[in-house]
Amino acid sequence: MEMEALVSLAKQRGFIFPGSEIYGGLANSWDYGPLGAQLRMNIKRAWWRDVVEQRNDLFGLDGAIMMNPKVWEASGHVATFHDPLVECNKCNHRFRADDVQGTICPDCGGALSKPRDFNTMFKTQIGPVSEQGTSVYLRPETAQAMFVNFKNIMQSMRPRLPFGLAQIGKAFRNEITPGNYIFRTLEFEQMEIEYFIEPETWETSFETWKQWMLDWAKTTGIDLAKVHELEVPAADRAHYSKRTVDFEFDFPFGRKELWGLAYRGDFDLTNHSQASGERLEYTDPTDPKRKFIPHVIEPTMGVDRTLLALLVSAYDEEEVNGETRVVLRLTKEMAPYQVAVLPLSKKDELKAVAQPLLQELMRSFRCDYDETQSIGKRYRRQDEIGTPYCITVDFESLNDQQVTVRERDSMQQVRLPLSQITHYLSDHGLTS
Ligand code: ATP
Repeated sequence: MEMEALVSLAKQRGFIFPGSEIYGGLANSWDYGPLGAQLRMNIKRAWWRDVVEQRNDLFGLDGAIMMNPKVWEASGHVATFHDPLVECNKCNHRFRADDVQGTICPDCGGALSKPRDFNTMFKTQIGPVSEQGTSVYLRPETAQAMFVNFKNIMQSMRPRLPFGLAQIGKAFRNEITPGNYIFRTLEFEQMEIEYFIEPETWETSFETWKQWMLDWAKTTGIDLAKVHELEVPAADRAHYSKRTVDFEFDFPFGRKELWGLAYRGDFDLTNHSQASGERLEYTDPTDPKRKFIPHVIEPTMGVDRTLLALLVSAYDEEEVNGETRVVLRLTKEMAPYQVAVLPLSKKDELKAVAQPLLQELMRSFRCDYDETQSIGKRYRRQDEIGTPYCITVDFESLNDQQVTVRERDSMQQVRLPLSQITHYLSDHGLTS
């Protein structure tokens, strides 16, 4: 699949628009249209349900984007959240040193500078800039709020090890080379878990989460044949990590990181304990004299990269009667619309049947309603946006109170009584 085909479909069909487009855009910023916003929501909802609502060893958290700057000193981000930057002395283009070979500019052949460290945290100011304001960072990861609130969680929730915190939220990185569509942007969303454990159990916990991530990829519709585990060598690991596995995905522009799984040891809680003076430790409930700092396994997942991997996995083209049919084979849970109600014409008699059906279905499912253009074009549009079921109301429906249900993947059609539609769809795995 070509990236251009996906980018064009995503724009035409309301998934992803270039950011601030009417002003010429803003490099590497994207806005999610109605269908993209719904797909993001479906990803986040499924994650929150599976991680927080359907487990009693994980708690949700929603931390602030701006935190006390001391957080980022203790976490090591001020000192080490750097990318090595090289700059061409001729065309002034900038690159991440690890993205270019040698000392020659790949764009113009000029000489590249020596690498210098560039901190990728965005800095901003609280208070009017003219006065002496306080500098703060926009968080480069959501993780720190979960460490900083460790004591609050212990006191309010009284959890026992192993337990975890889970958070979904925006993160910001002043990337040197953003690009590849929504793959690397300056502003993105993460779904992160900090899972606190007894230190000696880290290996089994790591394996359990690794498997959980693969299972979750599968149930959401990510093509596992395109997912590859990469054991990250020590030299390439983040400053806090004792073991990292990256889940890479075969994007159309190459095999790149989709998600990460890191063993952060006790790095964060130890550093925050020392820097804040608060004891961020756990007391063994069976032996109150035994106090220790738990270790942490961190599964981290980007919402935007998940969405891109879902679109790439779902995108399909096939020949049908000599024509190319484009279809997004999204799962029934992820599809932005689950059902489309399509009256064959705009005539009032058909509306009188189609509208009450729509109202009924909207109580249970995410529905679209479309009465323009030929039915063939409408089916094509619904295929392209991944709608699993189309329901056509025709003139015969006025007599027999039946409608045609068309399934996206097989394109098979069945004629069913109006009164059975909700049941039929539920029986076929549709839940909103
Ligand atoms: P990369 O090596 O691609 O820069 P990373 O290893 O720095 O990624 P992490 O710090 O592990 O990324 O961030 C966790 C997750 O957040 C990533 O697996 C990815 O899904 C997402 N992510 C990180 N940076 C970006 C970005 N600039 N744009 C979109 N998503 C991102």
